[in-house]
Amino acid sequence: MEKYDTVIVGGGFCGALCAKILERKSSLSIALIDKKPYFEFIPAIPKVVINKNYSKKIKAPFIEILRKTKFILDEVTKITKDTIYTRSRTIKFKYLIICTGTEYPIKLKNKKNVHTLKFSNEGEAINKDLEKFNDVLIVGGGIVGSEIAGELATQTNKKVTMLHSRDRLINRNPEKASQYVLDFLTKKGVTVYFNEKVTEHTENTLKTNKGHVYEGHIVIWCTGITFKVPFLDKKYFSLSIEEDGHVKVNQYLQVNNYENIFAGGDIINTKEEKTAQNADRHAKTIAYNILHLESKKRLKKYKPRTGPLVISLGPWKGLFVAGNFVITGLIPGLMKHLIEMAVMFRMKNL
Ligand SMILES: Cc1cc2nc3c(=O)[nH]c(=O)nc-3n(C[C@H](O)[C@H](O)[C@H](O)COP(=O)(O)OP(=O)(O)OC[C@H]3O[C@@H](n4cnc5c(N)ncnc54)[C@H](O)[C@@H]3O)c2cc1C
Repeated sequence: MEKYDTVIVGGGFCGALCAKILERKSSLSIALIDKKPYFEFIPAIPKVVINKNYSKKIKAPFIEILRKTKFILDEVTKITKDTIYTRSRTIKFKYLIICTGTEYPIKLKNKKNVHTLKFSNEGEAINKDLEKFNDVLIVGGGIVGSEIAGELATQTNKKVTMLHSRDRLINRNPEKASQYVLDFLTKKGVTVYFNEKVTEHTENTLKTNKGHVYEGHIVIWCTGITFKVPFLDKKYFSLSIEEDGHVKVNQYLQVNNYENIFAGGDIINTKEEKTAQNADRHAKTIAYNILHLESKKRLKKYKPRTGPLVISLGPWKGLFVAGNFVITGLIPGLMKHLIEMAVMFRMKNL
């Protein structure tokens, strides 16, 4: 049976950064387990929809970026209070970090020609299907749906339609931001329908509550996320999982009832937006607290916050939103590229 001082489950924004910090600042033995062999910069996945080769730019193989951490390519199927079970291994840990992210489910029974978008393989699948379809239907007008529409509208001749169940796009942001996105997309030929939901999908036909019928479209489903941790053994973790699937953490990001088990990233129940930047902040707090547990020093409290967001609309335009403050145009578009370059540089060189 293998044993490590620290095991990290999930190598996304939170898990990969935890590994990078801990291997630099400690002599702990570390293992990182992920179903995929690489870290990927998810915020740039909408670009893969247009250009399948873009995925190469935003992937960094774990065996290249992790210096001392043992990388294990496997799926975790069960976690108890001191043991992790993957499809092929049993691993003991002293500290555990759970950061398996969220899922972007397609809430339709018939999923023919319907895609979701979280990882680059899904972006590549959409890119391939775009060769067969002229009409694209994006269901969901949040940030992900709007960014995909921006890419398609600025770089293809596809006829893009968006259905949004609310009365404005990116509705958790200020009205000025919503209006900019709507004006930008409609000027580029995107048709947006508000307060509209899909009610039925049979073969190639999709119907909505407003009586619209869409036929022969490729559908990109972006209606939100779900939280699932089926691998957490209920015998040990029934008090640590919220009804909706979030993992309950305390102010130090320790999983409810366990001093040596931490969780971070999208999966935890902190009251803030699910963003890569917040996953990054969780990683810094978790790594710090593990180092401080080791040296028996005081732990650091995590303060939830919703920081600024950068939303892209095609390769060069975008929005910067911080509270009610909104900047639109070229500068936020460039910022998105700089953030991508900075994160990939840090992953490869930290
Ligand atoms: C299209 C898109 C665009 C986005 N744009 C932005 C943006 O512009 N700015 C921003 O801040 N945020 C953005 N986000 C959100 C951001 O990507 C997430 O908040 C961030 O990825 C969360 O990081 P995480 O570490 O919690 O999980 P993830 O990055 O989702 O990583 C989780 C990892 O866990 C692995 N895993 C899951 N289950 C298991 C298992 N059982 N066994 C082994 N491994 C497992 C997965 O393979 C994955 O690598 C975007 C998200 C999407 C989908």
